[in-house]
Amino acid sequence: MFIAFLTPLADTVIQQDFEWYIKPDDINFNMTNIIANFSMEKGNGLIIAAHWDTRPRAEHDPNPRNRGMPIIGANDGASGIAVLMHLAEHLAEKKPDRAVSLVFFDGEDYGFTGNLEYYCMGSEYFAKNLPIPKPVEAIVIDMIGDAELTIPVERSSYRSHPKLVESLWKIADRHGYSEFEYRIGEEIYDDHIPLIKFADIPSIDIIDFHYPNRFTNYWHTLQDTPDKCSPRSLEVVGQVLLDYIYQEYNH
Ligand SMILES: [Zn+2]
Repeated sequence: MFIAFLTPLADTVIQQDFEWYIKPDDINFNMTNIIANFSMEKGNGLIIAAHWDTRPRAEHDPNPRNRGMPIIGANDGASGIAVLMHLAEHLAEKKPDRAVSLVFFDGEDYGFTGNLEYYCMGSEYFAKNLPIPKPVEAIVIDMIGDAELTIPVERSSYRSHPKLVESLWKIADRHGYSEFEYRIGEEIYDDHIPLIKFADIPSIDIIDFHYPNRFTNYWHTLQDTPDKCSPRSLEVVGQVLLDYIYQEYNH
């Protein structure tokens, strides 16, 4: 479905199939990353990525009977993908002045509690088997659909690429997007970490980990549904990314 959507928009679309042995389940799991490339000949590559898989287990659901069920993932998965899909439409209409790859990672949210091994499998495979020339930087977006959107600076992002953090939060500030908060928040293991660790790509994560806030939790529950999300949140993040891609801001 993504490939059919992206093919008429992008210059090239790569389907990266891979297999991963999941020891606790004793299965060989087949996964697919999808990469949509624009203006690759310009170099100075930028990756914008999100995960398209959704969690197979709602382990934080208040009802124990739901905890073995898969989540809808309106925010945890689909929100980032929605923004990527719309960015693809803009990139098709107006060619960027630098190489931009939109990357749809699989296997981000399979992992088991207390063990990072089976999280972020798609980004790890991608980082170890780069199907595109090595980009100069990467932006991961995750859980950005929350109707109560608050995005502090994820800690390891600032360590990896402070200049990129500053640029993006400055763009948000210029728009008056108070959702972006320029303070160091928690450290979160997300798809930017394998990009840093295995491919040495300076990478950041735009994420609102408290969904909807510190007092209520829809994260990894069956309540992660579209009614908890807001089109405004997608717009805020999408607009910041568009301004950055087209450098529509002052340095
Ligand atoms: Zn998740």
